[in-house]
Amino acid sequence: MLQFSGFPEKGVEDEAILQALKPGSSSRNQGGTFMGYPQTTPHAVAIEAYLSYMEYNTNHVGVFTNSNRQLTASQKMESEVIAMLGDLYGLNEADGYITSGGTEGNILGVWIARNYFSAQKNTVALMQSCLTHESIQKAVDLTMISHVEEIALEDCHFRMDTRRLEEAIDNLISHQIYHAIIIATAGYTLTGTSDDIREINEIVIKFNKQYGFQGWIHIDAAIGGMVLPFREQENTRWFECEHVMSMTVDPHKMGYIPYSAGVFMGRKNVLSWIERNNQFSKTHVSNTLIGSRNGAAAAACWAMFQHLGYSGYKGILDDLISKKEYLLGKLLQKHIAEVISNPETNMCCLSFNSFSNCLLPGRLEQKYATRAFSIQYRGSVINCYKLYIMPHISYATLDMLYEDIMEALAESSLKPSKSEVKPQHEKVISPM
Ligand SMILES: *Cc1c(COP(=O)(O)O)cnc(C)c1O
Repeated sequence: MLQFSGFPEKGVEDEAILQALKPGSSSRNQGGTFMGYPQTTPHAVAIEAYLSYMEYNTNHVGVFTNSNRQLTASQKMESEVIAMLGDLYGLNEADGYITSGGTEGNILGVWIARNYFSAQKNTVALMQSCLTHESIQKAVDLTMISHVEEIALEDCHFRMDTRRLEEAIDNLISHQIYHAIIIATAGYTLTGTSDDIREINEIVIKFNKQYGFQGWIHIDAAIGGMVLPFREQENTRWFECEHVMSMTVDPHKMGYIPYSAGVFMGRKNVLSWIERNNQFSKTHVSNTLIGSRNGAAAAACWAMFQHLGYSGYKGILDDLISKKEYLLGKLLQKHIAEVISNPETNMCCLSFNSFSNCLLPGRLEQKYATRAFSIQYRGSVINCYKLYIMPHISYATLDMLYEDIMEALAESSLKPSKSEVKPQHEKVISPM
């Protein structure tokens, strides 16, 4: 066994290294199943594509969607991946690139929009909801946007209340702020629900006509971008909404690609707002957030999109959703949980109201790799769990989960005082 003791004095034989590299049993969730996150073993084709392009670092500088230069294979694949996704989201002339993930895409969207507005010397506000992913907080911190508004959710629908968004914009205008970045989420991480992007776009149009207000809608579709188009295609041609300017999507979540592979997309030339001259190359400009990038993620995305196609992704998703409905049917029949579930996604948010404080026993949290968080629901704060039904989950696993829950319920009803258990908050959602 290789021991760690600082930077090694001498190298060791590759045999010993390969032995040490074998994934140990400790890295696996023994006897359990990973259900709390949109994560699964990547598809074999994607792994193969990734591996075959590992040794080429051809995507290291610039973006290729607007390049007329001779492109290498992975650069060409990258620009085709962006075009394929543009087709899915209603954007003919897309600009963008393969990022390290949703966080980078969200930071980029906010950064570009901030630069676009500040070039016009304008104060800019950012609107989000209490369910917005924390990567937007990082973006706000980095871009030093000081005016951030949290728009309350619509009661029980877990999406931004557009009536309150209108009030908030009205209020901005009365304070002479005419520019806002609006973060709309397609598939919230905690609930699977989505903001009404068409309605948000209509609101921006209305204030634009009336007051010259400008809104930059950035869509965080880290999860929903590889889910919703395969269930409600007409509704997800998001760029048909004229104020949708940029979006992020994570092929490494619901696209079955190895980490890390995210995509940032925007309207033509949006990247020019963050462009820098490249110090070492006269022919390239630097218009990405991170510098050197790999070409392997491009090959993996390209290979997977080609391999599965629309019908392939849809087939897998439909099957995952059937499995989810199977589990929810069993739980609801016994009235053991309150359910938040967008029927068009493969995830659900469950509050086990038959358990004390709606909390499952720790061993079940561990076995199914899911942690409790709190959310505002019908006027009170409740504990919930999110479950992602991913391709590694079988009907037998769902039966096992159900049996485990029933067994724990039988046990807990034997205990005398249940109310002493304190809720454990992973994340507290602020009240509506
Ligand atoms: C996962 C997620 C992100 C961040 O994506 P990473 O790939 O983890 O950086 C952003 N937004 C939403 C809604 C997410 O679920």
